[in-house]
Amino acid sequence: MPSNTTASIGTSRARPCPLCGKPGVQQYRPFCSRGCRDRDLNAWFGEDYRAAVRGGADEGDDPDQPPQ
Ligand SMILES: [Zn+2]
Repeated sequence: MPSNTTASIGTSRARPCPLCGKPGVQQYRPFCSRGCRDRDLNAWFGEDYRAAVRGGADEGDDPDQPPQ
């Protein structure tokens, strides 16, 4: 295997974090860190979680609720 294949695994595909604009990390993409990812998730939960609980009961199985 040619050694130059590692060139494609660098930061060439890094996308800017939608929250702070830093280069995204593959582990947390498209965010740059766990902190930014959690912040985005919290924002989603803060706005939609209540609405989902009150009016979104028809979406099927809730991953947060264990089976009987
Ligand atoms: Zn960020």
